[in-house]
Amino acid sequence: MAGEPQSDCLFCKIVTGDIPATIVRESETTVAFRDINPQAPTHVLVIPKVHYPDAASLAAAEPQIAADVLREAGLVAADEKIDESGYRIVLNTGSGAGQTVFHTHAHVLGGRGMTWPPG
Ligand code: IMP
Repeated sequence: MAGEPQSDCLFCKIVTGDIPATIVRESETTVAFRDINPQAPTHVLVIPKVHYPDAASLAAAEPQIAADVLREAGLVAADEKIDESGYRIVLNTGSGAGQTVFHTHAHVLGGRGMTWPPG
């Protein structure tokens, strides 16, 4: 069923604690943890506890939880003190855009200069 945990999903296993992660924030509906392969001095992933493969499907089914993900991303940036210098929230959607884990996640990247357009 939509939103239910998937047995083959890495991030569902982080939600349940079956796979360890360095958790930096948690809310009723979200978990934020450090990326295992950081691309910036701060690189945190914010995920919903429910399983939807990407941001669009999450927002269509659970708009409040999609908003929670963005709120938590902003709170991570404040916690990490990257909010004043600027930071990037990235939601890769589809393998052509670089998505490799098909459980919605917002990358929060900061602590260094960013270029545009992204690669
Ligand atoms: P995507 O490429 O946008 O799907 O991002 C997936 C992210 O998950 C990548 O930045 C990976 O480094 C990260 N990642 C994969 N496995 C783990 C893990 O076990 N813990 C934390 N981050 C992970």
